Amino acid sequence: MILVNSHSVDFNYHIIHEDRISIYPEFRLLDISPLIQLKPKPLRIKRFIADAHLGKLASYLRMLGFDTLYKNDLRDDEIISCSIEEKRIILTRDLGILKNGKAQRGYFIRQQIPVDQCQEVIWKFNLIGQTMPFTRCMECNGLFFKINKKRVKTMVPDKAYLFFQDFYQCRDCRKIYWKGSHYEKMLKTIDRICTP
Ligand SMILES: [Zn+2]
Repeated sequence: MILVNSHSVDFNYHIIHEDRISIYPEFRLLDISPLIQLKPKPLRIKRFIADAHLGKLASYLRMLGFDTLYKNDLRDDEIISCSIEEKRIILTRDLGILKNGKAQRGYFIRQQIPVDQCQEVIWKFNLIGQTMPFTRCMECNGLFFKINKKRVKTMVPDKAYLFFQDFYQCRDCRKIYWKGSHYEKMLKTIDRICTP
C-alpha cells in the first residue's frame, strides 16, 4: 500500500514537492482491500516464471513442489505477458524486466548460487509451510503420478527395477522417477534450503 498525504494512491500518482509518502508491505492478517488503490492484489498461491539465467533455481523450486515455468529462449516481453496471464511472479537477476512498466509482479534474486537462491525465494515469500517435495518434474514442471511397477520394466535400468518398488511418471514429459542414489542427496539439499 502506498499513502501520499494519508491517501492511498497507485503508481500513476505524480509526486509533488513536500508530499508525505508512506509505503507498506503486503498486509497478511488485515483485509484492507477496500482502502487500497494499488493493483494487482498480492497472490496467495505462489507460482513463478524464472528468467533464462535461473534454470537451476527453477529445478529446485519444482523439486519442492512449486509451479515454476522456465525456458531458456523466452524474450522479456514473453516472460512478462506469461506472468500477467498466468498470475506468476517473475524471478530474475535482470532489473530491466522489473523496470518494464507492464510487469506487475516480480522479484530480483540477490543470491548467486542456485541453492542459496532457492532458499532466498522460500523465505522471502514465506513458503516453508507450502512445500510438497517430489510431486513435480524437475525437468518440465509437470506433476507426477504413481505408475505400476510392471509398466516400467523396459523403461528403467535393470538394477533400479530389481531394488525399488515405487515408481512415478511425469504426466507431461513421461520421465520415470524412483528413489535412487540421488534421492538422499536431494533430501540433504531440501534440508539446507528449508533451514533458516
Ligand atoms: Zn516432466
